Amino acid sequence: MEPTILHNSSNTGWIEVICGSMFSGKTEELIRRMKRARIAKQRVEIFKPAMDTRYDDADVVSHDESVITSTPVSSPSQILLLTSDATVIGIDEGQFFDETLVEVVTQLARDGRRVIVAGLDQDYLGQPFEPMPQLMAVAEYVTKLHAICVICGAPANHSQRLTSGDTRLLLGATESYEPRCRRCFSIHPEADIPHDAVGNEPARTPDAGM
Ligand SMILES: [Zn+2]
Repeated sequence: MEPTILHNSSNTGWIEVICGSMFSGKTEELIRRMKRARIAKQRVEIFKPAMDTRYDDADVVSHDESVITSTPVSSPSQILLLTSDATVIGIDEGQFFDETLVEVVTQLARDGRRVIVAGLDQDYLGQPFEPMPQLMAVAEYVTKLHAICVICGAPANHSQRLTSGDTRLLLGATESYEPRCRRCFSIHPEADIPHDAVGNEPARTPDAGM
């Protein structure tokens, strides 16, 4: 259930985290909640890291092209300066902010705001992607979304990097990553054994094995 329904008669703020792998619909879910808050005549503000320049500079744009205007900020403390009268604050790509995001978000919630942070919970090695784990710990509500594994069709919890390089912040979603389940995910993709070679039909073939 959407947290705002549970909280609607209360004056306290709270924190919601929307996490998951790439292509799991995190930004779409953030936008959906923000649009509903706007319909409810609440003042909403959305922020994203200034470094996320994959799409438009001033908009949060998800892979399915839903658009909602947002403000790029270079540090979490800037969010405090820019949220004077907003009651609902959205933050996209939370994993690209430093750990001070936790204190900023906590301060906003203490001040009576509803704060919704979307972000990757794991990096391309499958390791927790700070500060998302810390935000999940202090949040009242955590929603974990899954993509679909492109190899076997199972729910995907991992973002498989398809290119080489060891930088954690590699951007450029569609061509550099694909969603994979735990079994199909590999931190050494060059050593992958194709699924067919071990006798597993890809589930994306509709009638495979049925
Ligand atoms: Zn899989």
